[in-house]
Amino acid sequence: MAQAEIGLIGLGVMGSNLALNIAEKGNKIAVFNRTVERTHEFVEEAGALKDNIVPCETIEEFVAAIRPPRPIIIMIKAGDPVDQQMELLRPHLEKNDIMIDAGNANFRDTMRRFDALKDSGLTFIGMGVSGGEEGARHGPSIMVGGTEDSWKRVEKVLTSIAAKYNGEPCVAWLGENGAGHFVKTIHNGIEYADMQMIAEIYGILRDGLKMSATEIGEVFATWNMGRLNSYLIEITAKVLEAADPIGGKPIVDMILDKAGQKGTGKWSVIEAQNMGVPATAIEAAVAARSLSSLKGEREAAEKILGLPAVAPLSVSDKTAFIKDLESALLAAKIGAYAQGFAVMAAASKEFNWNLPMPTIAKIWRAGCIIRSQFLDEITSAFTKAPDAANLIVTPAFADMVKETDGSLRRVVSAAVLAGLPVPALASALGYFDSYRRGRGTANIIQAQRDFFGAHGFDRIDGTDSHHGPWGSGLGAGA
Ligand code: NDP
Repeated sequence: MAQAEIGLIGLGVMGSNLALNIAEKGNKIAVFNRTVERTHEFVEEAGALKDNIVPCETIEEFVAAIRPPRPIIIMIKAGDPVDQQMELLRPHLEKNDIMIDAGNANFRDTMRRFDALKDSGLTFIGMGVSGGEEGARHGPSIMVGGTEDSWKRVEKVLTSIAAKYNGEPCVAWLGENGAGHFVKTIHNGIEYADMQMIAEIYGILRDGLKMSATEIGEVFATWNMGRLNSYLIEITAKVLEAADPIGGKPIVDMILDKAGQKGTGKWSVIEAQNMGVPATAIEAAVAARSLSSLKGEREAAEKILGLPAVAPLSVSDKTAFIKDLESALLAAKIGAYAQGFAVMAAASKEFNWNLPMPTIAKIWRAGCIIRSQFLDEITSAFTKAPDAANLIVTPAFADMVKETDGSLRRVVSAAVLAGLPVPALASALGYFDSYRRGRGTANIIQAQRDFFGAHGFDRIDGTDSHHGPWGSGLGAGA
């Protein structure tokens, strides 16, 4: 039997679907799973694709089944299991074999693993895969980080399985070591913001306009045909229109309002903070998930404090207000994406990756969770202005911000006055308002810092005098 083109370890939700996708595109693939029964089940369920799958019960058998230099995808639980699996695999590998971690790794782990293999003759690829189960099976978005040589070895297979946007594959080599996993992390950070902003708009429709889940679903379905067209808006409409098999009510009304998180949102925020890049909408989204998980505390607080003692949302023209909500969501989304891309631009410098922004937007247009028509507009904006300091100052997006930020301001104001929480929408608005204001208010912060800590300041007239006339207060504390 001909040797497999590629190997895959980990036949869980993502690994099994990725393996079927690889086999379906005509690539022979060797597979291995820690629990051997799962391997047998997988092959039994593979139908006609069985012919392209080589099931292996031991690591030795698995390695021998793959044509050298061997690309081996590891698609297992992220963290320590990946290190353990690599340790088990390593003694069986030969020069130029490539271990590819396709799970949701922290890019700092990817850098460590990459460095650890550097002079060993083996190579490491950190590969972000987005699209969930469906994407893995029929075409994910794939973000690759590693050496360019190792990318060349896997390019053909990955291109064959990636999602396509107008025929263009949603896979790219983005740079050395942790580049792929970093970009995947920021993809997820943006996803957190996108989802939170949708949830806040849903809250205004549900608690402000008192609309039913089905009615709100219709609003989202309509928006999905316009500028907000995206996978997340599409599934939100579907989710809102779905009935509970137990009892028949809208299923969303039966779901506990506690959101889970696995870490990529938090990592995005930590890395943004480490580099001093404001990512306020992503931060707000991560914090909102944490707040959501404090269900018991929130219920107790509502008993003690009550809901805000304010007038309910009052809307004279519901149709016009819903139109404003649509534009507000678009404006806020621009803020979140601008922040995500700004974090990647800073990381690109910090880690010497040379991240290609238009390419990143391109490979997110299909396959991944944040896929949308909007990403095509980002691709075009960054292609025309690759060195733009921020997405919102590219000509196309500057026009979009100017056109939609009034809606965001009205929606945030109305929600705040009605006591409806909109932390991510408000963060995006605050970001725009701060970013576009040449003369801010940090002069007072500098004066305060100098007063209590003698930290000094620069003057606007360039005069070489860096401390204020604070007298005995100067340098009073830290
Ligand atoms: P599953 O829980 O479905 O599968 C986990 C897999 O990991 C199983 O094959 C399991 O093997 C294996 N595994 C766990 N611990 C070990 C270990 N110590 N040594 C060897 N194998 C181990 O996970 P998913 O497929 O959902 O996720 C896999 C990776 O993909 C994760 O990093 C996840 O974050 C990432 N990911 C997931 C997405 C999703 O939508 N689910 C989307 C994008 C990325 P066994 O059968 O023996 O238990």
